[in-house]
Amino acid sequence: MADRSVDHLLVGGGLAAANCARWLRDEGGEGSILLVGREPHPPYNRPPLSKGYLQGGESVEDVLFRPDEWWADNDVELLTRTSVMKLDAERRVATLSTEEEVTFETALLATGANVRRLRVDGGDLDGIHYLRAIGNSDAIREEAERSERAVLVGGSYIGCEVAASLTAAHDVKCSIVMLEDVTLESHFGPEVGAWFQRVLEQHGIEVHGGQELARLEGTDGVRKVITSGGLELDCDMVVIGAGVTPDVMLAKQAGLQLGESGGVKCSARLESSVPGIYAAGDICEYDSPVHGRPIRVEHWDVAFNQGRTAALNMLGRPAEHDVVPYFFSDLADWASMEYVGPGAGEAVIRGSLDDGDFTAFYVDDGRVTAALTVGRSDDLEHAKRFINESGEIDKNALADESTDLGSLR
Ligand SMILES: Cc1cc2nc3c(=O)[nH]c(=O)nc-3n(C[C@H](O)[C@H](O)[C@H](O)COP(=O)(O)OP(=O)(O)OC[C@H]3O[C@@H](n4cnc5c(N)ncnc54)[C@H](O)[C@@H]3O)c2cc1C
Repeated sequence: MADRSVDHLLVGGGLAAANCARWLRDEGGEGSILLVGREPHPPYNRPPLSKGYLQGGESVEDVLFRPDEWWADNDVELLTRTSVMKLDAERRVATLSTEEEVTFETALLATGANVRRLRVDGGDLDGIHYLRAIGNSDAIREEAERSERAVLVGGSYIGCEVAASLTAAHDVKCSIVMLEDVTLESHFGPEVGAWFQRVLEQHGIEVHGGQELARLEGTDGVRKVITSGGLELDCDMVVIGAGVTPDVMLAKQAGLQLGESGGVKCSARLESSVPGIYAAGDICEYDSPVHGRPIRVEHWDVAFNQGRTAALNMLGRPAEHDVVPYFFSDLADWASMEYVGPGAGEAVIRGSLDDGDFTAFYVDDGRVTAALTVGRSDDLEHAKRFINESGEIDKNALADESTDLGSLR
């Protein structure tokens, strides 16, 4: 016999679970809600951890999803520092780290992602950091206060954003070491990636492409980064941003089917292979009606919006997740970009890379699959329409600024 029962069990104290709780209430749900998260903090937004919070301009209160009193005011029971250890999908019983057993009517799994750790010699020296949670950002900021030189391993968002934040706000001399030839290349292609790299270099950040981390050295903490290409960089600290993997430990234990990307396989309604159990956020590999294929996306906005879609379905109101995924990133106050996708293809540039005012439309097989903009947010509304309509596009007209994007399809 379980210790108690709830209508809605939300597993994971991150953005997707938090926004699901919010929409369960906003859509008039009156059932009991239990949100269980293993971190010490109530749900918060992670993007500032590599930006404003890391720079020192934002506090913990600033990054919280909702103020502390919101949870009780909305009759949502929030358990922090608590993990769901086991999920019996058939009997609908969850076992918590407190040993309490909870039965549920519907459940949401939103357990997020874990950082990918690099196993190299010297990888456990002091002064080596990964970034996922508030405590990691605090530790990086403290280390930056006593450091002159940092090496960022990885040329994707985390590496680039942290390099910009440490340079701009903490006056730390930064170098980026990465496998790619240019920063952010794997997401946006070489031309647009090179634009971001130029911005970083113009602010004094050294970028070393085509370099694989071989080992880290030091006696009283990390002092040297050595690559397999023979590059040796002195440093006082290292931040590794080598991507994440979806945290599907609980989903696996519960016997939920996984998809090709390693996420929890879900329908367009975000329902897992077990009826009544949903997934959202970084772990959710859903059948996207927009893309016509299963996708899994690790973006703030996707976790946010999927929380809502899951809530509607948990309330018995069938809703497909048909939002075009959106992403944003800032390099200190040097550059801000926004992206809709995900997609690939030839980058058709509208505007000027030299002036830092452009949109890159990614065109594959004649169709717009994604778009990235610096300074032209309005273009993304057109891009979303192109992605949704999936018709052939005239590339010359797309690049020609005298063509009204509203007239294209
Ligand atoms: C530093 C940083 C900067 C980012 N910047 C951007 C950005 O600029 N733009 C953007 O679009 N995206 C950004 N992201 C990505 C975005 O924050 C994530 O996509 C989003 O947080 C995913 O939300 P989630 O709810 O799926 O998972 P998470 O936010 O990871 O939350 C999952 C939570 O579940 C908990 N948990 C796991 N297993 C259990 C269990 N068994 N029991 C209880 N709790 C459990 C975890 O501890 C975690 O707290 C950034 C991420 C990071 C780390």
